[in-house]
Amino acid sequence: MDANCLFCKIAAKKIPSKIVYEDSDIFAFEDISPQAPTHVLVCPRKHLASLNEATAEDQALIGKLHLVAAQLARERNLLEGYRTVFNNGPGAGQSVFHLHLHLLGGRQFRWPPG
Ligand code: AMP
Ligand code: ZN
Repeated sequence: MDANCLFCKIAAKKIPSKIVYEDSDIFAFEDISPQAPTHVLVCPRKHLASLNEATAEDQALIGKLHLVAAQLARERNLLEGYRTVFNNGPGAGQSVFHLHLHLLGGRQFRWPPG
C-alpha cells in the first residue's frame, strides 16, 4: 500500500466508495464521475502506478483484471458491447496513478476514442 495513493485508501476502505467486486487480488468500484451507464474501475490491490510499472511477475494479475471486467459485464448484461481501457500516463488522460482498468458500457462508443 502507498499511503498517499487514493485507490490504495479506497482498497483499505479509508475512503468510501461503491465497491462492486473484491477478492484477495482485486477490487472494483463505481467511478465517481461515470462516463457511461456502467463505469467501473477494476484495480489490483498491489500498488502499480500504471501498466508501465508492470513486469512479468504481474502477468496473471493483469489478465485477471480483464477477466473480472468481463464477468462484471456479463452480470450487467452489457450484450451490445462494452469497452475496457487502461489510460497510461498524462498524455493518455491518466489522472490517478494506481493501475485501474476502466469498464464502460451501456451506451454506444465511437472509434477512435478522443
Ligand atoms: P484515469 O483518468 O484513467 O486515471 O481515471 C481515474 C478515474 O478515477 C476517473 O474516471 C475518476 O472519475 C475516478 N475517480 C477519481 N476519484 C475517485 C473516487 N474517489 N472514487 C471513485 N472514482 C474516482
Ligand atoms: Zn495505490
